[in-house]
Amino acid sequence: YQETLPVPDAPDEVHNLSLEFNRLLRSLNQQVLRNRQFVSDASHELRTPIAGIRGHVALIRRHGRDHPEIIPDSLVAIDDESLKMQHLIVSLLQLSRMDQAELARTAVDLCPLVQKVVAQLQAQVSQTINVQLPLRAVACANADSVEQILSALVMNAQKYSPERSTITVGLAVVAARVMLTVSDHGIGIPANEKPKVFDRFYRVDSSRSKQVAGTGLGLAIVQRLVELNGGQVTIADNLPRGTRFVVTLPGAQASN
Ligand code: ADP
Repeated sequence: YQETLPVPDAPDEVHNLSLEFNRLLRSLNQQVLRNRQFVSDASHELRTPIAGIRGHVALIRRHGRDHPEIIPDSLVAIDDESLKMQHLIVSLLQLSRMDQAELARTAVDLCPLVQKVVAQLQAQVSQTINVQLPLRAVACANADSVEQILSALVMNAQKYSPERSTITVGLAVVAARVMLTVSDHGIGIPANEKPKVFDRFYRVDSSRSKQVAGTGLGLAIVQRLVELNGGQVTIADNLPRGTRFVVTLPGAQASN
């Protein structure tokens, strides 16, 4: 059974219908191009660690017998490269699943959530994490995804900041919305790069970022999760030095 379009009986309708048809076609074409680009970027990113693994396997095959001392280093490198592939695949799967995802959102006080996540993260980072919280900050959000957003932003702050600096996580209620901020004193993000860092696979100035392990997918996932929570994420400078990520989520009336 194929649904048919109502047949228009006036020329205007034919005109409007063709406009609508062309609009749909254009958006479909853009989607196809985006998907094609995504697959090509993903293959490119996977090819690099695979090439590394194959290189080390070839090295061991060729020289392992005569120079067995090279084997441990090659095994460490193979392990690192396969770990990179694993991170990449986990992130790719999450992004592709989120294309059609919908999140169950409830009224949730983000203060205890932030305290819990920060306590877990503090054990993993060398920087000191400061927390600035109001008494309550009730958002209409999916708690698991807010935890993931916060932990991705703090882990980025950690990656791109000096070891003994401070990272500040803040919550504020502003005009019935909840603002979650993560600020660091790290290398910062130049103004012209700010809109691009949310793109899949984008990493600022490869020479700087490539010294730090990463997939370039973290912020794409953060942005999608924030959207699924009905919010927005923006980047500001944390003067005199560093970056401040601001996540704005819809507020919810606290139930008493
Ligand atoms: P990555 O895996 O490279 O960290 P992300 O998508 O999380 O990927 O971030 C994209 C890029 O944005 C990073 O490569 C880095 O250049 C930049 N970036 C992200 N967070 C920060 C930050 N807190 N300070 C400076 N640069 C950052």
